[in-house]
Amino acid sequence: MKTFNTILVAIDFSDSSDNAFQAALMMSRQFSARLLILHVINEPVDLRGFYVPHISFDKLEEEIEEGAKKLMETFCRQHVKDFVNYKTFIAPGIPYEAIISKASEEGADLIVIGTHGRTGLDHVLFGSTAEKVVRKSHLPVMSVRLDDEK
Ligand code: AMP
Repeated sequence: MKTFNTILVAIDFSDSSDNAFQAALMMSRQFSARLLILHVINEPVDLRGFYVPHISFDKLEEEIEEGAKKLMETFCRQHVKDFVNYKTFIAPGIPYEAIISKASEEGADLIVIGTHGRTGLDHVLFGSTAEKVVRKSHLPVMSVRLDDEK
């Protein structure tokens, strides 16, 4: 039977990715696999060439990264519990690309994602991460649907 040694779960802190995370954690326990937890900071549109007073974009990026690290720490405290074989990653980029490339860099053999993520502007601008990961990844992808999704 095929087993998984390294499972990458992509989280955007939505209910859907929380649900996918639970499935990834359960499988990691079952297969004694290493669990990689990745959050991608959507690359902001680069406005450096424009004149925007009073804002330092380097500072803004630092603050966004700090915020993401804190969210990740809180997430792990609440969700990982007694599981120890895990590692977290915060990476800037386009979510589907960063998910696929981190999984391959880290030698993952399964990617776990939710079928939906955060809604709002990100989704309008970037479309479905789940769909793109499933279409473009060479690794097996498990997409986990939240029960009350329409
Ligand atoms: P979407 O297709 O954008 O609605 O998102 C579907 C799933 O892709 C989410 O439930 C997450 O598992 C993953 N995902 C979306 N955006 C991100 C992100 N910025 N970082 C990590 N995973 C993400």
